[in-house]
Amino acid sequence: MSERFTGSFTQQEPIPDEAIEAAVRVMRSGRLHRYNTAPGEESEVALLEREFAELMGARFALATGSGGIAITTALRAVGVAAGEPVLTNAFTLAPVPGAIAAVGGRPVYVEVTEDLVIDLDDLEAKIGAAKVLLLSHMRGHLCDMDRLMQICDAAGVKVVEDCAHTMGAAWNGQASGRQGLVGCYSTQTYKHMNSGEGGFLVTDDEDVAARAIILSGSYMLYGRHLAAPGPEAFERVKYDTPNVSGRMDNLRAAVLRPQLKTLRRQCENWNARYRVVEEGLRATPGLKIVERPEAESYVGSSIQFLLPGWSETAVREVLSRCAARGVELKWFGDAEPVGFTSRYDSWRYADAPPMPQTDRVLAGLMDMRLPLTFSLEDCAQLARIIRAEVSAVYQSQV
Ligand SMILES: *Cc1c(COP(=O)(O)O)cnc(C)c1O
Repeated sequence: MSERFTGSFTQQEPIPDEAIEAAVRVMRSGRLHRYNTAPGEESEVALLEREFAELMGARFALATGSGGIAITTALRAVGVAAGEPVLTNAFTLAPVPGAIAAVGGRPVYVEVTEDLVIDLDDLEAKIGAAKVLLLSHMRGHLCDMDRLMQICDAAGVKVVEDCAHTMGAAWNGQASGRQGLVGCYSTQTYKHMNSGEGGFLVTDDEDVAARAIILSGSYMLYGRHLAAPGPEAFERVKYDTPNVSGRMDNLRAAVLRPQLKTLRRQCENWNARYRVVEEGLRATPGLKIVERPEAESYVGSSIQFLLPGWSETAVREVLSRCAARGVELKWFGDAEPVGFTSRYDSWRYADAPPMPQTDRVLAGLMDMRLPLTFSLEDCAQLARIIRAEVSAVYQSQV
């Protein structure tokens, strides 16, 4: 009888006791709204923003109601107007082109490479098409950020980074989200900190920060922010910036502040799991590991591998054989959107020319979550099962 995995791919760790106690304190106070403060009190959200800015080495930080709100707020704050093209990754998740659509923009997709990052040659070829790049570090893979910034800086293109999968990651020692003009993060349950829903943006730019804070719904209470520019920056933008209302509340902030302190350790825990799966899959016939560049410090909260050149039938066979043994793989090659997984040609509200290179990569792209509730032994077992099933199907092909 072959072994079967019984863990749950969607089960995260419990919220830490310290965070539960902080949440209860906020609920007992009744002051859940971020601007509902007692005299002299600094709100949980304002304190969280100051701590997050410090952790990221940013001048300014804003907490938002979701990662998607952080991205739309950033796009508006850097000046994306209705009808405007915005460069973005063809390989990403639905809230990324969705954020562009939310501000009335038009996604212009850039191909993905076999390393699962934005194709910088294709970016260079298309760079004249837009004034803003919404760069998605999809599944935590960082491209050569030095070359990307050179291309964008030379063309005067502003970079907004989607760091939903790179909170805690770094490029050459600098936190992910700090290379571009704005970095955006998510604290939704499946990301690297868990408040159910939530997000952040960080920037060093005073005008972008002031506009983002007003956009998020600060009214004229921006003086209560602790990671914000001075009043002059708000004076410059306050009459021209709409209030789009997308704040974080004190309850979520209370849940997040203790998690900020353990983020680094949690990232190490993810990477330990990632390395066990990666090692277990190495040298599997027909399977290609995605090698990580030396300059990249990643967070292995999920793992991807390629079945390059495989037929759709063979890929589906691997998926169903793994599923039968309790291993949930996602496949980005499916023409039909399934669960959280969809692809550029399913987002039909936006025009997309054929993306042959992306199609070829996605056709063989497998993806698996690694929640921290999995032990290292679990991870070794996952790798054994995938290795066995991929090998079996591969051998039956040749
Ligand atoms: C989750 C996610 C987002 C959006 O974050 P939410 O907090 O769910 O709105 C954006 N980009 C990517 C790549 C994501 O995975």
